[in-house]
Amino acid sequence: MALAAPRPETWIRATPAGLYCEAGDFHIDPVRPVPRAVITHGHGDHARSGNGRVLATPETIAIMRERYGDAAGGSLQPLAYGETVTAGDVAIRLVPAGHVLGSAQIVLEYRGSRVVVSGDYKRRPDPTCAPFEPCNCDAFITEATFGLPVFRHPPDTQEIDKLLHSLALFPERCHLVGVYALGKCQRVLALLRRAGYEQPVYLHGALIKLTELYESLGICVGPVLPLAGVARDALKGRLVLAPPAATADLWSRRLPDPLVAMASGWMRVRQRAKARGVELPLVISDHADWDELTATLDEVAAEEIWVTHGREEALVHYATKKGYRARALALSGFEEDE
Ligand SMILES: [Zn+2]
Ligand SMILES: [Zn+2]
Repeated sequence: MALAAPRPETWIRATPAGLYCEAGDFHIDPVRPVPRAVITHGHGDHARSGNGRVLATPETIAIMRERYGDAAGGSLQPLAYGETVTAGDVAIRLVPAGHVLGSAQIVLEYRGSRVVVSGDYKRRPDPTCAPFEPCNCDAFITEATFGLPVFRHPPDTQEIDKLLHSLALFPERCHLVGVYALGKCQRVLALLRRAGYEQPVYLHGALIKLTELYESLGICVGPVLPLAGVARDALKGRLVLAPPAATADLWSRRLPDPLVAMASGWMRVRQRAKARGVELPLVISDHADWDELTATLDEVAAEEIWVTHGREEALVHYATKKGYRARALALSGFEEDE
């Protein structure tokens, strides 16, 4: 008779440095430097510098190199989607998470027990990255950034149309859109092109390198120009993208009659938009909304659901009611920004 597969909590657990796979002796998205790290994607709260050995998709490694240079890790091992490596008795496979370019779910198998660590993910199509692939497992570790029923993201095409409509309505005003440098910036550009916007888009300096990296990895974002050095009047009726933190600064100084927009799932919350001085909130998120989270739980059909990274309670409650064994996983160090 075959031995029963070990229960997930006997070989993978939360530690102060992050999620730790004891059977393979490595951490996933560690928050402090460790000897061996497996990284889900390039956002700064998941991919940190200073680890010994790093395993991630080739795209995530390219992003980490761009951000951290030599500090990206002692050795960087790329693993393409679908391929398998082993660490001790644990098989590691990376599967698309649909969050940003290179983002991966980490599929771990140990003696017949399978755990999937989702990292950050979304289920909607995104022209800048491979779509999420649901993967059956015994335990599914899910994010819950937008884990409340109030979070239901509208179609991104509708939000892009709002922006284009505003540009048509106010042809003299510079439209300044706050976007995160990795993922959101390039997705907004790609969505604008799909909607037929062909004009050059001006980029704040902090967005240029990663956008060039996306281009070099085959993701087309259309004509972009650096904002630096452009005459104020030339920006009338133009689109400028900048990191959220830079929008207040640019707004007050350099741009002609700016209209401030921001692309984020948090724009669903009116007070947040108001607090940031956002006139045109665009609900464009790289995280699963409530419907995507709950649909994913049903699809992966894991007996156990571990919830992390956001509003855990509501999703734990939902999963428990549906008959899953669910609990919140205490992991620290993740930001709610996307
Ligand atoms: Zn992320
Ligand atoms: Zn995250």
